Amino acid sequence: MSAESEIKAPPAIAAKLAKLGLARRDDLILHLPLRYEDETCVTLIDEALPGVPVQVEAEVLDVSVQYRPRRQLVARVADASGELSLRFLNFYGSQTKQLETARDNARRLRIFGEIRHGFLGAEMVHPRYRPVLADEALAQSLTPVYPTTAGVSQNFLRKLIDKTLGEANLAELLDANWCASHALPAFSDAVTLLHAPPPGVPESALQLRTHPAWQRIKFDELLAQQLSLRRAYNARRQKGAPVLKSAGQLAQQLLAALPFGLTGAQQRVGAELAADLAQPFPMQRLLQGDVGSGKTIVAALAACQAIEAGYQAAFMAPTEILAEQHYLKLRTWLAPLGIEVAWLSGSLKKAAKQAMQLQAATTAQLVVGTHALIQEGVDFARLGLAIVDEQHRFGVAQRLALRRKGGNPHQLMMSATPIPRTLAMSYYADLDVSVLDELPPGRTPIKTKLVSDARRDEVIAGVRGAVATGRQAYWVCPLIEESEKLQLQTALDTFATLTEELDDLRIGLVHGRLKADEKAAAMAAFVAGEIDVLVATTVIEVGVDVPNASLMVIEHAERFGLSQLHQLRGRVGRGAHDSVCVLIFQTPLSQTARARLKVIYENTDGFEIARQDLQLRGPGEFVGSRQSGVPLLRYADLEVDADLVELARRMAEQLLRDDPERAERHLARWLGSREELLKA
Ligand code: ADP
Ligand code: MG
Repeated sequence: MSAESEIKAPPAIAAKLAKLGLARRDDLILHLPLRYEDETCVTLIDEALPGVPVQVEAEVLDVSVQYRPRRQLVARVADASGELSLRFLNFYGSQTKQLETARDNARRLRIFGEIRHGFLGAEMVHPRYRPVLADEALAQSLTPVYPTTAGVSQNFLRKLIDKTLGEANLAELLDANWCASHALPAFSDAVTLLHAPPPGVPESALQLRTHPAWQRIKFDELLAQQLSLRRAYNARRQKGAPVLKSAGQLAQQLLAALPFGLTGAQQRVGAELAADLAQPFPMQRLLQGDVGSGKTIVAALAACQAIEAGYQAAFMAPTEILAEQHYLKLRTWLAPLGIEVAWLSGSLKKAAKQAMQLQAATTAQLVVGTHALIQEGVDFARLGLAIVDEQHRFGVAQRLALRRKGGNPHQLMMSATPIPRTLAMSYYADLDVSVLDELPPGRTPIKTKLVSDARRDEVIAGVRGAVATGRQAYWVCPLIEESEKLQLQTALDTFATLTEELDDLRIGLVHGRLKADEKAAAMAAFVAGEIDVLVATTVIEVGVDVPNASLMVIEHAERFGLSQLHQLRGRVGRGAHDSVCVLIFQTPLSQTARARLKVIYENTDGFEIARQDLQLRGPGEFVGSRQSGVPLLRYADLEVDADLVELARRMAEQLLRDDPERAERHLARWLGSREELLKA
């Protein structure tokens, strides 16, 4: 870091500032207030409204330490209009002295806080105060309140930032005309105003962050994010990748053997992938499609292209159950075409694993598995395409590892967690995005029922009814996120209860603590129809496909996330049968729980559910381990600021194309050392 960009502070303080992410002058400039206090005027004690923070100026009449009801420091102060008690429950001896000195020298105090009217008249508890000179001027601007940490006082931070504002480089990096035409003020004006708003700036616009100065900051922040992601994307494109050209014979054979034709969306996305794979740089594509939209076959067709071109494809899924299901399905599809499909999972015995690793390294054409695919010892001979299913379940590091396995393969990432458009544009700006926005025909819509726990008997009867007509059911246990042990116990309890309640039916159980082969055996029995009701934890949440299952019961539905409920519900309605999802909830429901269940009850479109979920809960859940990018968005709100996201995206493209040097400067201002976070 160059000397003039560094913050000048004693080492102990510098360390504390670093904890706040404040290492450079630019960081201080962009460390914006949480809120403001108005010290630009003085209010008379008698005129202060209760509950509203005010500044009063008063003389100290009397200072005492009282012991009832507990030890506290009390100062009586007065102005021309009335008297006020200041109470401090935690105080230092020095504070008592300071107040006494003010009393003895008739120094006035400026006191900031909320007045309330207690038993003994007007009082303020723990107000902020300081002695002032007789003619000391009032603040000219609102007083900023910054996020801070122990050992760095507001006052210190204020002074430091104020000084830095005078010294730092606040140069404009955007075109002034462009800014004007989008009602965005200059950067220097924006930060100056936000750190020290002059009187007259409407406080609500500051608080709600709707003021143009805030808009400018949010835009700049989003622009930095877009620039960073786009730059990473471009950098990866500079690297060569195998050109996977083929005549499409394998794909045609696969299609001819399928019992169904592709939907329009599948054809469109298939063509996008085919074109990407034939390029000499790596595909970086996210395939989004709601549960049941048919992503697997699209991925299989892409794999065919890679294989026909003489390369290998890898297909990684987040759970054993799902990976194995993919393996079985892909083998059914591809083995008849003469393709060698291999299976690699962490649960394989050592010898079998080594054999599989060898196969992956040599003859296998498609390798399906869990994250075992990316572990030591797996070396693909000629990996051309890496497919990651349910990609949000994987960490950044795991996805990177697969990318590094062998050359520089094309990458296809798939996700059934629909991500609202603005979020996708923001977090996945370094990926191309394809969307399967059409479900295969012939699906009967799933009926969703909300049932209170008191009516459990009816649900049990419903399960019996479904099984009587030859269908199967899932019964999802209550989610206990805090404790794996409790979660296991709940699953065992639920299994025991249901076995009793439905003693004429065949009940199975899968949960996360089972060994992989036990899980697989339970799933296989369910697929084969040897189990009527499968009691399960959320291990079945992603991807599992058993078309004969037409009833999904979820206990304590109010504990699940919306996307989780949507995923779980998507496990039924996969065949031609009428399907029902019963959400059992525990009364009484909180207001948010009610609102969330209403969303899932009223909507079947995953994108709409995701949008409403985002409104209810914020972006965290959607982006999973992408959250490493979250620290970047301190100010912008993807839902509220959707327009700015779009604007920033366009500006990022333009800057990178026309003025990369300016793009760099913008990134440096915003990210400094933080940029590494976004490289993944
Ligand atoms: P997801 O997108 O959730 O991964 P899958 O790939 O598991 O969906 O597909 C769900 C089910 O729909 C599977 O049984 C699959 O074989 C079937 N399927 C996929 N595409 C079609 C289609 N075009 N017509 C009919 N069924 C299809
Ligand atoms: Mg899937």
